[in-house]
Amino acid sequence: MGAPAFHAEDRRLRDGQVDRRTFVKVVTTAAAAVGLSSTAAARIVEAASKGLKPSVIWLHFQECTGCTESLLRTTHPGLADLILDLISLDYHETLLAAAGHQAEEVLAKTMTEQAGKYVLVVEGAIPTKDGGIYCQIGGRTALDILKEAGEKAGAIIAIGSCASWGGIPSADPNPTGATGAPTILQGKTVVTLPGCPANPYILLGTVLQYVALGTLPALDDKGQPKFAYGRTIHEHCPRRAHFDAGRFVETFGDANHREGYCLYKMGCKGPATHASCSTLHFGEMVDAWPIGIGHPCFGCTEQKLAFRVPLHDTVEIERPTPPDTYPPIHAEQGRVTPWATGLVGLAGGALLGAGWRFAKNMEGEPKPPAGPDEEKEVR
Ligand code: SF4
Ligand code: SF4
Repeated sequence: MGAPAFHAEDRRLRDGQVDRRTFVKVVTTAAAAVGLSSTAAARIVEAASKGLKPSVIWLHFQECTGCTESLLRTTHPGLADLILDLISLDYHETLLAAAGHQAEEVLAKTMTEQAGKYVLVVEGAIPTKDGGIYCQIGGRTALDILKEAGEKAGAIIAIGSCASWGGIPSADPNPTGATGAPTILQGKTVVTLPGCPANPYILLGTVLQYVALGTLPALDDKGQPKFAYGRTIHEHCPRRAHFDAGRFVETFGDANHREGYCLYKMGCKGPATHASCSTLHFGEMVDAWPIGIGHPCFGCTEQKLAFRVPLHDTVEIERPTPPDTYPPIHAEQGRVTPWATGLVGLAGGALLGAGWRFAKNMEGEPKPPAGPDEEKEVR
């Protein structure tokens, strides 16, 4: 496969060439970010230095291109490093300088020459209604293109909620019958990376593992890598301590909001959303994720929540939380009224008086015979 026809900026970055030290650092950082070992990183470096880069075909269907935009914002590694040193991005409609027949020829050629080996990345939902006519590229429906590209792929990754389960295009009433890649490619393993957008590091981690080990990460029953979707946002949210303490934002902009309290009452879907945004932020910026900037989690990875449950509706808490199972940190304190104080005083006085009278009575009565132990003590 010849060098793809990328935009001038990408060519400039390619011509600058990354030295080996930088490259090793980039790979190790990327591998560590997604939990791969340093041994795996070394294998990636070795494979890449031998020119063994997996061919990647990236298809765009019904979507906003936000997932690609999110990828463009990575710097560890940056997209240029990713393209030039880790994978061979042979077809990507947003980045290709080629257009029309020239671009479609690149796609056909890659599918033929790299059959059974290329990684297919799907971005966007696939319309199925009326024969799939609502999304066509080069005169072919998305449905057709995906079926052909999926059939010949070595690995398939659906990036973003659109490609994973339909995303925004599938929101009610779903006029185009939009759905995700797994529904179209039934019987094939499709790694799904939902999110709106998906976090680029999760894609990177999945691709790196495929490059280094020839395997895919452990997946759950929805095809999601467990390393990224095994927990809810609520489980590792930096505002969790406020939730447990019962400190909530009541209205946007109130004093509690300014204090960074929990956003549950504002409709935060974190307790029912499986994702890793709270640990892998976006755009290489600390706290660049919804809750980090003071907005409730929208639940964008969850088919049953995103674009269905209104933004500010609260969700059920899926798992027991400390306030349900342990005493709360700020326990409700009862107040003692003067009446109650008087009654307690009366009761206490009566008890003391009864005790004193009982003791006096005992003094005047004959003592019971001592037991054997008491006898020993007396001697
Ligand atoms: S998942 Fe969201 S960000 Fe990604 S393409 Fe779809 S709408 Fe855009
Ligand atoms: S409800 Fe939302 S803001 Fe509050 S702790 Fe859970 S995930 Fe964080």
